[in-house]
Amino acid sequence: MTENLAVSIVEPTIYDLSSPGRTGVTFPAPDVPKAELPQGLLRSDLPLPELGEVDVVRHYTNLSTFNYNVDNGLYPLGSCTMKYNPKINEDTARLPGFAFAHPLQPVETVQGNLVLMYQLQEWLKEISGFAAVTLQPAAGAHGELTGVLIMHAYHNSRGDIKRKKMLIPDSAHGTNPASSSMSGLEVVQIPSDGRGNLDLAALKAACDETVVGLMLTNPNTLGLFDEHLEEAIQIVHTCGGLVYGDGANLNALLGIIRPGDMGFDLMHFNLHKTFSTPHGGGGPGSGPVGVSEKLADFLPSPIIGIVEEGQDDRLPLYGFLSPAKSIGRIKSFNGHFGMFVRAYTYIAMHGAEGLREIAEYAVLNANYIKARLNGKYAIPYDRTCMHEFVVEGQWAAAPGVRALDIAKRLMDYEFHPPTNYFPLIVHEALMIEPTETENKATLDAFADALIKIAEEAKTQPELLKEAPHKTPFGRMDEVKAARDLVLCCWLPEVNE
Ligand SMILES: *Cc1c(COP(=O)(O)O)cnc(C)c1O
Repeated sequence: MTENLAVSIVEPTIYDLSSPGRTGVTFPAPDVPKAELPQGLLRSDLPLPELGEVDVVRHYTNLSTFNYNVDNGLYPLGSCTMKYNPKINEDTARLPGFAFAHPLQPVETVQGNLVLMYQLQEWLKEISGFAAVTLQPAAGAHGELTGVLIMHAYHNSRGDIKRKKMLIPDSAHGTNPASSSMSGLEVVQIPSDGRGNLDLAALKAACDETVVGLMLTNPNTLGLFDEHLEEAIQIVHTCGGLVYGDGANLNALLGIIRPGDMGFDLMHFNLHKTFSTPHGGGGPGSGPVGVSEKLADFLPSPIIGIVEEGQDDRLPLYGFLSPAKSIGRIKSFNGHFGMFVRAYTYIAMHGAEGLREIAEYAVLNANYIKARLNGKYAIPYDRTCMHEFVVEGQWAAAPGVRALDIAKRLMDYEFHPPTNYFPLIVHEALMIEPTETENKATLDAFADALIKIAEEAKTQPELLKEAPHKTPFGRMDEVKAARDLVLCCWLPEVNE
């Protein structure tokens, strides 16, 4: 299986399976008079494959088994929490009142949906310790952009217009510098110290009256909680900057500590990383942003609120409010409403106690695997981790083996690989995040596989270099796949 299969897909395409005259649909007899079809608009020939229903179902079901997914097995991708999409979420999101509501319906007719959004805002406030929340942003990176615009608007509103720089640690998620520079800010990188914390001396040196603020992922992408967090926040506040928290992966902190209480001025949540909504190909993301009291007036418009107080026998009327100095709308309509229903379901299902348990298990599971790998893999910042940790995917005794080879070999053991080559401050990084939803047997099987691979690397390195061996396709030529992108395997010739 070492042959490059990236461009020579061996699986028959739906066109290969086509057989003239075969069909999967039966049209009912027309109940309207037949009419001539308009001339000129129609093609005489359309090269569509001809198949029966079972052929089509089997073809695509078969293809779907080539994909690894969260319903298949462990998915230890770091900086990317949430590998669990409860099936009940899909039931609630499909309730007709939620699924078929139109965003432009009069508010009187969608009070239940508005109450759900309002309650979700309230819960996110309570979980994070912030004063106000917008649900609009479509994903984490979009939340960051929203946050940076709010920070900029806050400074400008005070006549403080010299601030153009965003301080970002070298352990930050890649979207942090991207969203800052998209907002027209200059990004200044702050190094980490030997324990994986923000280097306070470097932070102090970079802080001046031109700084918009600091964007801090905490726990950072090494999975570490910054040991001098309060001091770092203090330094930035002293020079007049704001502190933005990247709360994409809040799993380790739920119910234990609140970013708003720690001194962060604003932060985004990723509903698709902490509150169980599907990630990536499973559906749109959602990146609500929470802000402190002094930034509440700058939130995107509208937010959901009570527009008319209730009285004895009348419920309050929920509707749209526009914050006084709003940065404006950043998403069409009201954000990804279907995701709000799922996140609401998840939070309601767990309650306060359950949310805290999520954090405890996220931290326990990561530390358990870390402890099992200790001594077999180098762990560069070896201290108690939060929801994830990073190891080096290389050994002096196996000079030819790289992190990529370990990742590919894991597929032979039927595990999805962890994130690799990120964060950049760890050489040959493998970033492992088991998440709170895995049981001990699965964690052990995963650790066993990694330990076995560490041995193979030294005794049979070719096993790793040529992996994967057991997947439907072997090692891809990733460079060629990116350069000569083939989006469609084959299209039939059109008969003239
Ligand atoms: C995933 C992630 C983001 C970006 O979130 P998206 O929804 O993918 O845009 C930002 N920061 C961190 C730490 C993340 O893990």
